[in-house]
Amino acid sequence: MFRRRWPLLLALVLAGGALAYWFSLPPLRRLVLRSHPTNVKVLLVGIDGASFRVLDPLLAAGEAPQFQALVGRGSRGVLKSENPMASPALWTTIATGRSRREHGIEDFIVRKDPKRPRAGVLVSSRDRKTLALWNIVPAFGKRTGFLGWWASWPAEPVLGWNVSDRFTRERWNEWYGGNKREHTAYPPELVQQLQPLVVEPSDPPMAEIDALVTLSPEERAEFLAAKKPLFGHGLSVFKYAYCSQRSYEKMALQLLDKGQPDLTGVFLVANDPVSHCFWHFYEPEAYPQGVDPEKAARLGRLIPNFYKHNDAYLGELLKHVAPDTVVLVVSDHGFDASRQLPALKALPGLFEGSEAERAAMNGMVAVGQSGKHQLDGIVIAAGGPIRRGIPVSATQYDIAPTVLALLGLPVPRDMPGRVLEELLEPDFLAAHPVQRIASYEPLIDKQAVVAASEAAVTDDEEKKDMLRSLGYIR
Ligand SMILES: [Zn+2]
Repeated sequence: MFRRRWPLLLALVLAGGALAYWFSLPPLRRLVLRSHPTNVKVLLVGIDGASFRVLDPLLAAGEAPQFQALVGRGSRGVLKSENPMASPALWTTIATGRSRREHGIEDFIVRKDPKRPRAGVLVSSRDRKTLALWNIVPAFGKRTGFLGWWASWPAEPVLGWNVSDRFTRERWNEWYGGNKREHTAYPPELVQQLQPLVVEPSDPPMAEIDALVTLSPEERAEFLAAKKPLFGHGLSVFKYAYCSQRSYEKMALQLLDKGQPDLTGVFLVANDPVSHCFWHFYEPEAYPQGVDPEKAARLGRLIPNFYKHNDAYLGELLKHVAPDTVVLVVSDHGFDASRQLPALKALPGLFEGSEAERAAMNGMVAVGQSGKHQLDGIVIAAGGPIRRGIPVSATQYDIAPTVLALLGLPVPRDMPGRVLEELLEPDFLAAHPVQRIASYEPLIDKQAVVAASEAAVTDDEEKKDMLRSLGYIR
């Protein structure tokens, strides 16, 4: 009798031990052990303010071959934005899947004193109250690399790299004293390594600028002489935003050459200020006040040429990632004519350089935003399990859940968006059904994510075997 029962008793003792072990693990460890990550790699390219209103005519004319190829082998559609369209709020929603009220990044600046509405400090990653993809994905032992994303300074620790939005002299950093030397990138040694790639606005690459737009001698002098970006002043904001974007473009290629993360996020900023300030030249018929036709013919090329610049850079990026990478190109909003023309203004202190330069400009420059945000952003998806020719109708809330599903990581119910399942091959969805959990928020400490990700990577195979044999994990 006893001899027949002892194997059963032994099995019960072992199972009890395994059960005790399983429940002794922190909840995040149990979740990681139960997850079924895919081998998919994702490249998320964010283009601030990209709109099909400009892109479609270029696609029709065959002037955006990289976008064309992506659309040809993938799917496209509108990504609906929401008001108020402040880029840091929108891009943080894209990276977190959460509303601005929840993630807490509502604008470019945080106003500390309601009596002084213009006084404030630039938003930072410390103001973000919810987890971003770069906090969640490394918890599963997967690498992320994000670069230039709004409100990403101080750079948070990740498994991979994080290059914050305060590495370069972007406009908002200049306006609000946001330029930083510390915590601009993670791991910290990247700061020195990437510094030589920074394109300084004091020495703009004029051959590249000339390829984008033909400036008159006066405009060229104004472009070169502007010693700071001025809100609504096309030539100075173009200079600062272009130099910033070019810096991140170069950094992304160098970082990708050292190994492609599972999730890469590259943010390209300059399309937005270019569209704000040069739209009246691009679409002069939308301004009943009238636009100088000579200037429209010349300066009106800048917006489409900048789309072509982004198209060519997209081609460069694709050469630096695996061919089966899922590419998601998204914008936070589109653009439209504001129907208001910039006005001439005197701007003491904007220019440095010779008296002759100042005299040529009479100290007066055009200031104002002729382009304004519009709700229809873009989404283009291609590669890996992405289907072809599916019309997409997305919101900024859908990107984070879709990225998690592509990586095979659980999608939390506190992200109000949806996985864009219509974009995914049925075979992929059958093999990797979307897993759901309530929330990552109580599970992940964003400052401790590196330790957690190391635990995920160096998981004890023996323990895994035991858990697998007992059906806790697959
Ligand atoms: Zn804007």
